Amino acid sequence: MRKTPMHIEREEFKKLGYQLVDTIARFMENIDEYPVTKGESPLQVQRALGDSNFPEQGKTAQEILNRSTELLLEHSLFNGHPKFLGYITSSPAPIGILADMLATAVNQNVGAQILSPMATEIEKQTIKWLCQFIGVSSDYGGILVSGGNMANFNAFLVARTAKADMALKEDGLFNSHSKLLTYCSKTTHAWVEKAAILFGHGSKSVRWIPTNPENRMNNEILAQTIEQDINNGFQPFLVVGTAGDVSTGVVDNLQEISAICKKHNLWFHIDGAYGAPAAIIPELKNIFKGIEEADSIALDPHKWLYAPLEAGCTLVKNPKHLTDTYSAHPEYYNFSKDEEGQSLNFYEYGLQNSRGFRALKVWMALQQLGREGYQRMIADDIQLSQYMFDLAKKHPELEAMTQNLSITTFRFVPKDLIPDNPKDKETYLNELNESLVDKLQHGGEVFLSNAIVNGKYGLRGCIVNFRTSKKDIGEIIEIVVREGRKTHQKFMEEIPLKN
Ligand SMILES: *Cc1c(COP(=O)(O)O)cnc(C)c1O
Repeated sequence: MRKTPMHIEREEFKKLGYQLVDTIARFMENIDEYPVTKGESPLQVQRALGDSNFPEQGKTAQEILNRSTELLLEHSLFNGHPKFLGYITSSPAPIGILADMLATAVNQNVGAQILSPMATEIEKQTIKWLCQFIGVSSDYGGILVSGGNMANFNAFLVARTAKADMALKEDGLFNSHSKLLTYCSKTTHAWVEKAAILFGHGSKSVRWIPTNPENRMNNEILAQTIEQDINNGFQPFLVVGTAGDVSTGVVDNLQEISAICKKHNLWFHIDGAYGAPAAIIPELKNIFKGIEEADSIALDPHKWLYAPLEAGCTLVKNPKHLTDTYSAHPEYYNFSKDEEGQSLNFYEYGLQNSRGFRALKVWMALQQLGREGYQRMIADDIQLSQYMFDLAKKHPELEAMTQNLSITTFRFVPKDLIPDNPKDKETYLNELNESLVDKLQHGGEVFLSNAIVNGKYGLRGCIVNFRTSKKDIGEIIEIVVREGRKTHQKFMEEIPLKN
């Protein structure tokens, strides 16, 4: 074989690989001894990286690997740390780390069956297993994408192809299709607005439906709004139900939404990017009732299935709508169908053309844990979140706000707060808790994010972390209270200055 500067001799490759695996194994073993983050400023991180230009000469792989490892282990935020409960980013499954190495070594282009025979079949099987995981028919087709936004975008485009008349493909949105409307609850993730803007519908085409006191979409208002819009000459095409909203983990009443969609012949999409995997818990079957009615579902293996980034997934009840949306047959492709009709070219199921083998890490973790393993781990995460809520409820300086799936929100309320009037008190508490979130996020002991619930700014812990223990939750509560008191103290000292 040709020898090039890219070549690494077999013995050298093994040595580097073993070193790297040793380092990673040690890192995973001791991850709780690292700070969650060093909270460095971008300038500090830039200094550590150094400001050099594109090198003229190459270096040895050993040098590069040593430095890369050091830079990343010394200047990263570790979402695999047991006290990382921010946003919805999980600890990566160790088997997924190995899967990615294998996947990139074989380097399959999972855009076309002929280019990736086994990888295509593994992705198909992964899709089937994900359907069985969340309890919908295995007849759904689907595709792995980079994450929740892309999974939802994909569904949005498929819904439009299915519900707008065929002339849309030729005429675009500018003729008769400018009145296509989307419906979703106010708590829906920001992807909806992005999709409406990027795909040419405009942000005004999204009807944000208010929520009821439990924070679920108010389906009465949904039905009324759709009817009004139809009477006014608009063309509703898509309703988005949320299965685990990003702030507080609430699941909409999916069955009711499905009935409304059927009545008006609308596409029913479920955004389950975070929450859908919880449908695997038998005790939660009721909450997810109606999920099997969805025309499409988005879910994120890189959230509650612990796949390393990136892995999202779109499932579509009738996969024909996927090919209707994406299929194209340029003359330079010779991707003909096989005689048994089993061939699937994933480029016809989504926006990407060349595609990596994301499915492998998901497929391997699904086998390592099986249904039983995932049921236990997801149930444990939920239980830990409930424990966090209980601790907040019992603590005299904390106010527990919400608890759904594995998300708990609460806020710090100092004991000696004497409000002049309720409005000032709420403003003070909001500023105090916002400052507390900032402090915690840079302190490195714990990472929580924030949520605003009924105007109250609170701290938010989302447990999609298989390393977090009960002890961690207890310690997190103590850290929050300790830092909350300090922040309050500082605020009180500053108040005379403000006047
Ligand atoms: C996380 C999330 C998204 C976005 O997913 P990404 O993987 O971050 O792109 C969309 N919807 C919901 C409900 C989410 O929780």
